[in-house]
Amino acid sequence: METQMSYLQKHPDVTKSRLNTFMSNSQFKDVNIHAALYEARVSGAAHVSLEVWAAPGTERPTFEHAVKQEFTAIDGSDHTFGPSWSTHWVRASLKIPHEFAGKEVRLLFNPGCEAMVWSADGMPQQGITGGGGADKRVEYVVARKAKAGSSVTLYLEVACNGMFGLGDYTIGPPDEHRTFRLQPVELVVRRVDGMALYYDLSVLKQMLEKLPRESPRWWQALSTANAIMNAFDAQDAATLPGCLEIAKEFFAATPGSATHQVYAIGNCHIDTAWLWPYDETKRKVARSWATQLGLLERYPEYMFAASQAQQFEWLKELYPGLFARVKEAVKGGRFIPIGGTWVEMDCNVPSGESLVRQFLLGQRFFQENFGVRCRVFWLPDTFGYSSQLPQIVRLAGAEYFFTQKLSWNNINKFPHTTFNWVGLDGSSVVCHMCPAETYTAEAKADQLIESVAKHKDVAYSNESLYLYGFGDGGGGPTDDMVERMRRMQDVDGLPRSRHAHPDEFYAHVEKKAAGLVSWHGELYFELHRGTYTSQAQTKKNNRMAEYLLRDVEMLSAVAHARTAGFAYPADELTRLWKLVCLNQFHDVIPGSSIEMVYRDSDRMYADVLESARGMKQAAVKALFAGSGLCAAERAGALMVLNTTAWPRTEVVAVPGGNRGAMRGCEQVRKHDQAALAVAAAVPGTGVQLVAPSAAAHSVPASAYRERGSGLVVLENLHVTAKFSAQGQLVSLVERRSERELVPAGQAGNVLRLHDDIPLFWDAWDIEINHLEKYRVLQAASVEIVDEGPLLASIAIDVPVGGQSHVRQFVSLSAVSPRLDFACDVEWHENRRCLKTAFTWDIRSDVATYETQYGVVQRPTHRNTTWDMAKFEVCAHKFGDLSEFGFGVALLNDGKYGYATLGNTMTLTLLRSPKSPDAHCDMGHHSFRYAVYPHHGAFNESRVVQEAYQFNVPLVQLPVDAQAQVNEEPFFTVKGASNIVLDAVKAAEDRRGDVVVRLYEAYGGRARATIATSLGFAAAAKTNVLEEHVDTVAFTAASGGKGGSVVVDFKPFEIVTLRFSK
Ligand SMILES: [Zn+2]
Repeated sequence: METQMSYLQKHPDVTKSRLNTFMSNSQFKDVNIHAALYEARVSGAAHVSLEVWAAPGTERPTFEHAVKQEFTAIDGSDHTFGPSWSTHWVRASLKIPHEFAGKEVRLLFNPGCEAMVWSADGMPQQGITGGGGADKRVEYVVARKAKAGSSVTLYLEVACNGMFGLGDYTIGPPDEHRTFRLQPVELVVRRVDGMALYYDLSVLKQMLEKLPRESPRWWQALSTANAIMNAFDAQDAATLPGCLEIAKEFFAATPGSATHQVYAIGNCHIDTAWLWPYDETKRKVARSWATQLGLLERYPEYMFAASQAQQFEWLKELYPGLFARVKEAVKGGRFIPIGGTWVEMDCNVPSGESLVRQFLLGQRFFQENFGVRCRVFWLPDTFGYSSQLPQIVRLAGAEYFFTQKLSWNNINKFPHTTFNWVGLDGSSVVCHMCPAETYTAEAKADQLIESVAKHKDVAYSNESLYLYGFGDGGGGPTDDMVERMRRMQDVDGLPRSRHAHPDEFYAHVEKKAAGLVSWHGELYFELHRGTYTSQAQTKKNNRMAEYLLRDVEMLSAVAHARTAGFAYPADELTRLWKLVCLNQFHDVIPGSSIEMVYRDSDRMYADVLESARGMKQAAVKALFAGSGLCAAERAGALMVLNTTAWPRTEVVAVPGGNRGAMRGCEQVRKHDQAALAVAAAVPGTGVQLVAPSAAAHSVPASAYRERGSGLVVLENLHVTAKFSAQGQLVSLVERRSERELVPAGQAGNVLRLHDDIPLFWDAWDIEINHLEKYRVLQAASVEIVDEGPLLASIAIDVPVGGQSHVRQFVSLSAVSPRLDFACDVEWHENRRCLKTAFTWDIRSDVATYETQYGVVQRPTHRNTTWDMAKFEVCAHKFGDLSEFGFGVALLNDGKYGYATLGNTMTLTLLRSPKSPDAHCDMGHHSFRYAVYPHHGAFNESRVVQEAYQFNVPLVQLPVDAQAQVNEEPFFTVKGASNIVLDAVKAAEDRRGDVVVRLYEAYGGRARATIATSLGFAAAAKTNVLEEHVDTVAFTAASGGKGGSVVVDFKPFEIVTLRFSK
């Protein structure tokens, strides 16, 4: 065919549209580029014969099990797989036609859902993503150079779920009755130069989408594409080399030396559970990474990064052959384990110790299996980042941080791309948020152009990271993507790009670290604020597990140090921590997964809690068997164990039927017949017998109905609290100062039922407009239950309407100003949330909230849009509103969604989203919160300790009547009331050392003496991976066992000490 015009006609828009048509895979595909992509294809029983075996129910059998089953022949042109979540094994017997000899032959297999290709000898080969979406991956290379007439047998493990599960829309609950239709199975041979031209044109087309028309390169791209279309003939493959020549000239032009540098890395974000259960994730990992190993083999320049040690461990256990291949690829330097954590965890809800364990488990796994220490903390998809992370990251042997999630902010645009992120204690890490604003980029020219255009710090950091590859449900880059990356690496009009280890990017950036801007404090995510509350039981289970494991580790470490023959249960503790850390994945603990996931996590938490309770008992028995410890029925006294490091005086309750233990019993609690007594001055990390005299010395608490007003009053030495007939706290007077904390006409314990209809992300988002629409719930009754002297309490009954109901048991003990609210809720709402609100006569521009190993202050006003965006914030065990001289804290035992506007602090108790879990949070809930008024502003208070006590109860040990206490406290912290002793555990390396973690909790300095009665003789400061950092002078105790060390703390510093014999 003669080309009539050698130059571009002056009709650029028509030409650009012509290119779209030329690339279209629907209309005109018989005469455009799609007609040139394959040179041959065959199907039918002569070449492809298929048999199938369907696994029963939702079982996911192994290859070894599946291949032994009875397979039935199917018609490859008419078969349907189903229902949802079922598994079908297909045996494909392939016969290569003679005309395919010497060619690369591919199997085209599109089951409509996900699948794994297995070799006949049981090696996973590649993942298949069926269906018709952009992420489709349905070709598998059967032979790079086929032999004529040869036969190949493959197995295809068909999983009846899509890449994004089975919802009717992105986040819809799974449709349990979905089926998937197998499309005709073929053997195909690609036309090499046709495919090459297709990739060239794809890049040209993408450049035309994004380059400015003022740029000569836009016109050159257009005229190049036009010339190619003119030279192309769909019926004549001989025209292709000419077309490629035209393209080659365009791609030969290179950018200048000052151009932006993109460091590209393939990745496939695999949500460890989300719209599919954990068991499916295990297969997603294998499918995705098998695919990527294939790409690494075929493309020598390609590099791929994968995070989450848990996913590697699953691969190691379930796919040892594939794991061995991954190990080889890691050695080769192009398969890059990254991130350093057990999973890509949520960073709002997990405790400080949990964040440490994420790194401890993760870094140790990567070190042991690959000899790799991850330097980049990798968290592209988590919903907000705690201000303690820079310190923890540093202490975990990493120094860099990657994310991009703040690009989803729905109010303010985050102002930096590459910057120093400075944490609570002043530690900093280099942070980069890829300017392409996605971790699932598709290797497109327009995204590379955006990597420059959206880079906010390009003036002094002219480089960026680019993460590409299908993700969330796994998958990763495709051949097409790697082919495009190859074409785009050095082309004028685009930044220069190449594959690189992210460490290389950060090391390069770090050289200029002193010149980077800084961001101080938390990286608050302005979206997904409902994830502090959704799936309430999961959050509560996590809280319980965190503190129960703390007790188990401390008591076991002490028992091991003290008692010959007591073995520290290291393996079991590691197993349980792995389960806890697993459920902290960034779609599980936030509450954004499907119902199936929570059935799994419920089972895991039940396992964790049961096993931990058993271990705690065993350790207690080993420690106190010689102190008169006995069975509850034979008890003549009660010993109380305090695992916090400060002395405590509390009213303790022993369940009914065990009254004998309570020599000091003065009162029986009404609702459960528990015997009450005062445990006075129980030493930190030590025990004390409950003495009858303690109760006698306390000033009685009382409950009564005030004459005249009818208000119900709870009163003790410290406070007088008055409740209205509506169940609201209408007065709270601190008696020593005679200070009224509730402003006239205002109230606390106001239960509010808000409309809670987010814009889209149902379980994720509580949106700002929920604050505009709510009703206040009114109590039906307020009754006095216990009248003292040790405990005064009332019951408040609040119908919500419909089937929902709140019952509160409000109590005040004789020995504390803390007012406890124990709630039982029947909850059957739809897109409504329940909050409790307290308005205090306190004025402050900031409220203080607990975060991991510290606190964070946030505004109580809406001065700027940044302030306004924090209309719901995450807090751990408390939120506090203080002014000079006085403050009140609101404590909780497993709630995280707080807000303070003016002088009203709210705590979000329950939500009722319907997707992706259609039954989220429906049913019964038990939880507690408490009000703790205190003298002094927050940093002069004991709020941190009080909130700790609210979550870590004293341990009651029945002992015989003659029992004597002669125990020394295990560990004490002297001279610094702002230091909290958190974890005490055996060292991971099992050399018999004990690791103690402490932190400064109020934002000041301290010189603390940490003493131990255990037989240690030396101590060292370590990082959180328990590796030596510094020796510490250990002073042996005179005459006794153990000794002490003196440690200086900076504000919010985390200190890990390692004691050895
Ligand atoms: Zn994710």
